[in-house]
Amino acid sequence: SRALLSAQGLRKTYGSTDALDGADFALMAGEVVAVMGPSGSGKSTLLHCLAGIVPPDAGTVLYQGKEMSSLSDADRSALRRADFGFVFQFGQLVPELTCLENAALPLRLAGAQRKEAEAAARNRLQQLEVDDIRHHRPGQVSGGQGQRVAVARALAGDPRVVFADEPTGALDSVNGDRVMQLLTDAARQTGAAVVLVTHEARVAAFADREIVVRDGKVRDMAGAA
Ligand code: ADP
Ligand code: ADP
Repeated sequence: SRALLSAQGLRKTYGSTDALDGADFALMAGEVVAVMGPSGSGKSTLLHCLAGIVPPDAGTVLYQGKEMSSLSDADRSALRRADFGFVFQFGQLVPELTCLENAALPLRLAGAQRKEAEAAARNRLQQLEVDDIRHHRPGQVSGGQGQRVAVARALAGDPRVVFADEPTGALDSVNGDRVMQLLTDAARQTGAAVVLVTHEARVAAFADREIVVRDGKVRDMAGAA
């Protein structure tokens, strides 16, 4: 069967640093893959290239069989909005908006009516068990609650792929495990694939499969040195 998202021979250089040095990757529809490796090994750069945020210097990224670099900037942005969701280490919620408005924001930006966007967002807030704080602002909720709102926001538009970069990096292990359990349960229910960047084995254990990035190259666990 064919990969939903794949990359071959990705290279990315910043000054004299080879952030990616010939990285290959493949993700099947609905699969949760943990991208592990030490700090500075190229995990975030790989995620950014896969998501079409950073253009690789060389190599190809294919999404649904289509080369990302062949799309115009506008088409790539539209694709990201329609098919991808993002979760970051620090929720990056908009402080002036309520949790519900935050979760609905990507749908609003994609052109959905307020009512429709907030209905979809509420479903996800319920799934992430943070519907009760929907009228609070991010500054009034705990770190774990904020990350669950960020996950609800990432999933509100029914993405095919969720990119999560150290989503539990700012949480203690109890709250981190809770976020990971809810994130992976919700992704499996909706059929979304997940690219999960983490340096913690405890977090990676929630994935179906683990790969390791070292010096800008990807190895699977069996091939890890
Ligand atoms: P990881 O996510 O595994 O910590 P990164 O992909 O963030 O690794 O970084 C890989 C290497 O590339 C590091 O040496 C980092 O400092 C460098 N790097 C990443 N992004 C940039 C950038 N925008 N400008 C300069 N150097 C960068
Ligand atoms: P992570 O390890 O989670 O990637 P970093 O602090 O390495 O966190 O990177 C955070 C952001 O800063 C990323 O978008 C990365 O591309 C960028 N970045 C990383 N290293 C550098 C650098 N040396 N110079 C400029 N930007 C960088």
